[in-house]
Amino acid sequence: MTRADAARRVGIGTGAATELVARLTAAELISERPAEPTGRGRPTTVLQPHPRGPLVLAVAFAHETWRAEVVQLGGEVVACDAGDLDRAYGDGERVVLEVRDRLTKLRRRFRGRIRGMGVSVPGLVAMDRLVEASTLNWPGLDLGVLWPKAPVTAVGNDATFAASAESRRGAAVGASVALHVRVDAGLGGALVESGRVLTGAVGLGGEFGHVPFAGDDVECPCGARGCWGASLDGSALARLLGRPVPADPVAYARRVLASDGAEERRAVEVVAARLGRGIAGLVNAVDPDLVTVGGLGVDYLASASRALDDAYLAGLMAFRRADPPPVLAAELREGGPVAGAAEEAWTRLWPLLPT
Ligand SMILES: [Zn+2]
Repeated sequence: MTRADAARRVGIGTGAATELVARLTAAELISERPAEPTGRGRPTTVLQPHPRGPLVLAVAFAHETWRAEVVQLGGEVVACDAGDLDRAYGDGERVVLEVRDRLTKLRRRFRGRIRGMGVSVPGLVAMDRLVEASTLNWPGLDLGVLWPKAPVTAVGNDATFAASAESRRGAAVGASVALHVRVDAGLGGALVESGRVLTGAVGLGGEFGHVPFAGDDVECPCGARGCWGASLDGSALARLLGRPVPADPVAYARRVLASDGAEERRAVEVVAARLGRGIAGLVNAVDPDLVTVGGLGVDYLASASRALDDAYLAGLMAFRRADPPPVLAAELREGGPVAGAAEEAWTRLWPLLPT
């Protein structure tokens, strides 16, 4: 962005912009380079992250893999590392210590410039500790050990972080209230109000998958019955198809979604309708201006949008149907959780940076 564009965006004059840019440059947050001349207007400069400026480390654990990104101001990734989670150990602490060693190497490359860490996990997180993750089986694990002396650490649920990223950098930019729903092994998400993710008192909010929308007697891995998430995961698809419960429900759901068999198409439509109906319930309850759908939800939206839309409209209160909040595919796709980990680390870092 040019200095002139930034000044317009913030709503300040040329003089104030010059002064502000000088302060941010002195604080080593941004630097300037001459802009390409456009032939119109006075020459301006392009603002860019300072070459010695702060960076954050964003780490995202998935069910079978992990990924780390070093992110500069503006969201650009300047380095990354990734690997498989060797779950043969079955021991979260050992896996986390291995990842910690790789992160330490990444941090050393940037000699003190990395100032904070965000960690996304596919599980329930309270006070930076993993409370439960059905696919990882690492209860009570303290993820702060990945970098014990980090100036700031933000640990959170992958769907919650994806919601944050979608509001800052994706399809929900500019929304006053955005609802994000992410379908993975379970179903989670978050409500984001004016850019702030509502995480609940201890960080356990947004577990929309455990609202008993399904109204059946199926027991969810959480221990409750009739959970919405359990009615649209890979195991639910297998039940609809009369097949045994799959060992890896996410991979199974991907296979069914990719299949063009008539039975599979029908099962996908049933699940897409359950997704649409539940989204309608949440929209009735929380009144967002838009809904973004991530993870496997993107595939349901692409493969069975008619079934999803019909059920969504039917589930909305009648007065909403003329102008329903749009249900959009998440733009950041599988990159949502790691991008959100970076955003949440920045959020905690801002108050500590000199300006
Ligand atoms: Zn549940």
